[in-house]
Amino acid sequence: MAGKRLIVMGPPGGGKGTQAKRLQDRYGIVQLSTGDMLRAAVKAGTALGKQAKTVMDAGKLVSDELIVAMIAERISEADCANGFILDGFPRTVLQAESLDKLLKSKGIKLDSVIEVAVPDARLIERVTGRFTCAKCGEGYHDKFKQLRKAGVCDTCGGTEFIRRADDKAETVVARLKAYHDQTAPLMPHYERQGLLKVIDGDRDINVVAAELERVLGA
Ligand code: ADP
Ligand code: AMP
Repeated sequence: MAGKRLIVMGPPGGGKGTQAKRLQDRYGIVQLSTGDMLRAAVKAGTALGKQAKTVMDAGKLVSDELIVAMIAERISEADCANGFILDGFPRTVLQAESLDKLLKSKGIKLDSVIEVAVPDARLIERVTGRFTCAKCGEGYHDKFKQLRKAGVCDTCGGTEFIRRADDKAETVVARLKAYHDQTAPLMPHYERQGLLKVIDGDRDINVVAAELERVLGA
């Protein structure tokens, strides 16, 4: 694959995590999901997790300051030296500007920004049907990515599954509002830099993955 420093953007439930994980598994580039990092902090009961939980449960965005500090630390770790896929970050213009500065200070550049576009009308069903394996984190969907054997994870054989507290229909409405108000305005930022590639995410998971690989020249 040509580009090794990527951002996958898109609305909640748009398929960012699904596609980023596939790229990670296929090309060995680490997926950095700020949502996953925050959920790990909430679970561990850290100071960051405590601050983030209420905001996440309300479907709002955690403060730029906390998020930027978290990602700056993570990107400096050894496994990111070879590239990374940012999933769910940046989500505000300030986060994007902070990322530009951070990467500049490290003398590195982004290769591509992918927008996985999905109409709002599809997203509630996507989000409310989502669940993940408690053991290995593999993602599934009640309708669109079912378990091959009921109650058993295809990947690791785990039998416990998790549904996110913020994947309720009421919270999705707030998350969509945050997306349109605060995240969608980022697209022109990356379009100006000549990095933005939009793909139609309203298709089968495998079709979207193939399109993504084509766009990335993989
Ligand atoms: P995001 O990371 O953008 O919030 P996910 O990758 O977690 O979204 O996808 C949300 C849900 O929709 C998951 O349950 C996933 O299995 C499912 N999903 C992902 N991509 C598609 C697709 N192209 N078509 C149908 N369902 C999808
Ligand atoms: P996600 O897993 O990407 O759907 O994120 C879940 C929640 O975590 C969001 O609704 C926000 O509350 C928070 N979050 C994740 N990433 C960010 C970010 N880059 N900026 C602010 N809040 C974030």
